[in-house]
Amino acid sequence: MSHKKIAIVGAGVAGTTAALYLSQLGLNVTLFEKKESISSGPPYCHLHAGGNLYREISDEQCVTLLKQSIDFAKYYPFILDYRPTVIVLPKSDKNTPDALLPRLKLLQREYQTLIEEDSTNAVLGKSEAYYKLYEKEDVERLLTVGLVKKPTSHDEWMVSAIKHIDLENVQYPIVLVQEYGMNLFRFGAGTQLAIEQMKNIDFHTSTTVEKIDQTNHQWNIAYNKHNVSKNEHFDYLINASGFKTGSIDDMVGVTSQKMVEFKASYISQWKSKSELIFPEIIFHGERGTPQGMAQFTPYPGGYFQLHGMTNDITLYEDGLVTSTDTSAQPRLKNHFIQKLDEGWEESHVEQRTQNAIEHVAQFMPEFCEASVGAFPLFGAQQIPGDDPTLRVAEVSFPKARYARCEIVKVSSSLDMVDAIVSDLSQLGYLDVACKGSRNRSHLDYIQEDKLNIYAQSLARSRNYPSDLANINVPNPNDNLIFKINHHQLTNRLYESA
Ligand SMILES: Cc1cc2nc3c(=O)[nH]c(=O)nc-3n(C[C@H](O)[C@H](O)[C@H](O)COP(=O)(O)OP(=O)(O)OC[C@H]3O[C@@H](n4cnc5c(N)ncnc54)[C@H](O)[C@@H]3O)c2cc1C
Repeated sequence: MSHKKIAIVGAGVAGTTAALYLSQLGLNVTLFEKKESISSGPPYCHLHAGGNLYREISDEQCVTLLKQSIDFAKYYPFILDYRPTVIVLPKSDKNTPDALLPRLKLLQREYQTLIEEDSTNAVLGKSEAYYKLYEKEDVERLLTVGLVKKPTSHDEWMVSAIKHIDLENVQYPIVLVQEYGMNLFRFGAGTQLAIEQMKNIDFHTSTTVEKIDQTNHQWNIAYNKHNVSKNEHFDYLINASGFKTGSIDDMVGVTSQKMVEFKASYISQWKSKSELIFPEIIFHGERGTPQGMAQFTPYPGGYFQLHGMTNDITLYEDGLVTSTDTSAQPRLKNHFIQKLDEGWEESHVEQRTQNAIEHVAQFMPEFCEASVGAFPLFGAQQIPGDDPTLRVAEVSFPKARYARCEIVKVSSSLDMVDAIVSDLSQLGYLDVACKGSRNRSHLDYIQEDKLNIYAQSLARSRNYPSDLANINVPNPNDNLIFKINHHQLTNRLYESA
């Protein structure tokens, strides 16, 4: 069974997670990545552990995001920044904070149930502390308390938020919720170190898959590595090519309906606050209008990643495109392709970052001191189907021995691989006992100092400051990370092969 050869196109979170997971199960994996390193696609900074940033999505999607985020946090604890998120509704917002409460209560109950089922699920802290509400009098009380260098309680986190927010402009209560941060450079570094340990992963970077044919139950993949063309045969194909998923569908000859959206976030630096630690702060607003949500994401060194859900900041008027009857690949306009392939013009970086700073400064007046900190973190995101608000999606199997991954949030990647493992078991490539195993022992041996140095060099190699590869709050739950007996599992696999 372990002789089966799996090809994965794309080393984003989806493809890399699939490669690590399947190689642990004994399969031979070849991972193709067009760029030079892992996670070179669109960014991610927020673990949507409950989907509280998306008021427009269903409760069902929020509960799935909660479960998937907990699984993701258990699998990749080293990529998380363990700081909370503060959610503010400005007075200009059409809704009231009370409208958020039924969902928060539902998520808290679901979280409690997940902990009762398995105590290692408690990665977001105690269920009763999943969220906390701050009424006006609570905020006034906290304003008299001094700032703390290393916040550890909800109240201490709240102090650093409220001391910088224009409180005349907010509705009460203000919400604090245990949605953590994520660091994409630490993901790239940690998974690269893990891949280097795995003998059965063949990782080709700077390699583009150009053509795919199918003959006698095998995939023949033509790829180009450093201008040299090669061909190889595989038993199973995993398409994890992100916003290019449709182009692989076209090569394979399957149709599909999907969307691609180009979006950008901006890196600012607020030098006078470089010694302070902030929670993430969200100012809700209606997407696509000038009042669109503002998202203020902290990194060490006074760097802040900013999103603004307006057409002048994160979104673009012509940024959402759909597939057509003749091609599964939605076509982005040339000015987006130019940004993706060649980078940004400096004037665009300056203009949009400044727009983002002003957007946040409406709610945090002192933030107008901030300046451009680095190039934007940006990219194109795939959304399967025709609902642009969809936030949970995993994988589909439109043809035998072909898995098409279309995650919208990175936390969906483990459910995605579970579904692929089921398909591989049905084909007889894997023992059915492998379903849901989620063995992560290969990630247990990553050393923090190596990871840290690697993540920083990855950030610098992409022209970002090394502070963007750092986190403010390391994992406080080390003892909760579950470990499966790796040797037991692989032995069982080899015995049954
Ligand atoms: C601005 C922005 C902010 C976001 N913030 C968050 C967030 O906070 N939290 C969250 O969970 N999600 C967030 N997302 C979504 C998240 O970035 C994506 O869901 C996720 O990165 C998708 O991962 P992926 O592995 O499917 O695709 P990708 O990361 O795009 O990986 C696909 C890879 O395939 C490679 N590839 C493509 N074609 C080929 C080929 N022919 N040959 C070889 N290689 C190929 C590409 O180079 C790429 O590296 C955000 C997205 C954007 C745009």
